[in-house]
This record gives sequence, C-alpha cells and structure tokens, in this order.
Amino acid sequence: MPTQIELLATLQTVDQSLRTKTLEVDEGQCRVAALEEAVASQTVATNAVREELAASSARQRDLEVRLSAVETKTKDRRMRITRIRNDKELGLAKRELDLLRDETLALETELVGVMELVEAATAKAKEAEEALARLTLERDAEATALRATLDRLSEEIERDRAQRSRLIETVDGELRRKYEMIFSRRGGLAVVEVRGGTCQGCRMRVPPQLFNEIQRNEQVILCPSCQRMLYWRAEAEEANE
Ligand SMILES: [Zn+2]
Repeated sequence: MPTQIELLATLQTVDQSLRTKTLEVDEGQCRVAALEEAVASQTVATNAVREELAASSARQRDLEVRLSAVETKTKDRRMRITRIRNDKELGLAKRELDLLRDETLALETELVGVMELVEAATAKAKEAEEALARLTLERDAEATALRATLDRLSEEIERDRAQRSRLIETVDGELRRKYEMIFSRRGGLAVVEVRGGTCQGCRMRVPPQLFNEIQRNEQVILCPSCQRMLYWRAEAEEANE
C-alpha cells in the first residue's frame, strides 16, 4: 500500500507529463490564432489596396476615353476649319480649337498624375498580395503542425487524465489541495526528494530532526525553506551513496 507522499509523487509525474503536453498544444494553438489574426488584418489591408488600385484604374480609363473623344473632336474641327470661308465662323472655329487644346492639355496632365497613382498602387497591391500569400502559407503550415501535435498527444493526454482521476481518489482531499496549490505556485514541482539530507527542490539542508521524520514517510512534511512536500526514497539514497 503506497503512502500518501508516494501517491503524490506519482500524481506529480502524471501532472508534469500533462503540463508539458497541454503546454505544447496550447502553444501551437496560440501560434495558429496569432497567424489567423495576421492573415485577417492583412486581408483587410490587401482589400483596401485593391480598391485603391481599382479606383485609380477606373479614373485612368475614364480620362483615356475623354481624351480620345477630345482628340477625335479636334481632328474633326481641324478638317472643318479648312472649308470655312466666312471670317466670323473662322474666328469661332479657331476659338473652339483653342478650347479643345486647353482641354487636351488639362486631361493629359491629369492622366499623367493618375497613371503615377496607378503605378504606385500596383506596386503596393503586389506587395500586399505577396505578404498575404506568405502569411497564409505560414498559417497553413502552423495549422498542419498543430493537427500533427494533436494527433500525437491527444491520446496520451486522455490517458494521463484518466490516470490522474484514478490517482486523485486515493489522495486525501486536504493534501491534494495543498499539493495542487504548491504545484501551480512552484513551477510544477510540489513533491521533491530529500537526498543526503538536502531538499532537491531548493538545495537547502533539511534539519536532522526533520530528516528523521521524513524517512519514516508517515506524514507529509514541507521543506522549511521552499515549502515543497518532501519525499524520501531508500533506493535513491542508496544509489546516491
Ligand atoms: Zn526545499
């Protein structure tokens, strides 16, 4: 019949194994979640750049259409002007051609500006698409890795949990609460061996009187300096010597 401290030591082995495995799963999930978020925000950014590019391209097409219309009209008026004999009409036609020239210049200037915008937006869109593709790949790879981790560990975690619930039933309720509190506060190490009179949790020497008590393994004794539960194994002590 194992003593309470022996049961707690076994429980700790199971808990440490559970802790390591669940931590690995949690970390994988955290990485996937962070990448999901990065993909989502990069998608928003990419869509904004795409819209910007679409708007500039539409403006460019519109200006090109208008420019070509003005050019056609100019050509037509130049043809007509050669046939005009009347001075008044000629004056009006020249005036119209001047206005058309001004309009052409204005459209050309605007078009150059818009083409620069389109060029900049195209480069930005390319960059955004590439970043999105890169993040998506990264996210997919991390999700695959997480699935592999889950495939590998979920069965073991189940097994550990089942073993833990069996063990828990054999441990005194008060001791169990104390153990769990120390386990969570002391970095997953609540039960430690005493070897050669030294606590293996904090490396402090245990008073001889206490050491004698610990060796009897009758009750659970806490280390005076680190407050962990002290445990003594005759075999370990012999192997040590
Ligand atoms: Zn200690």
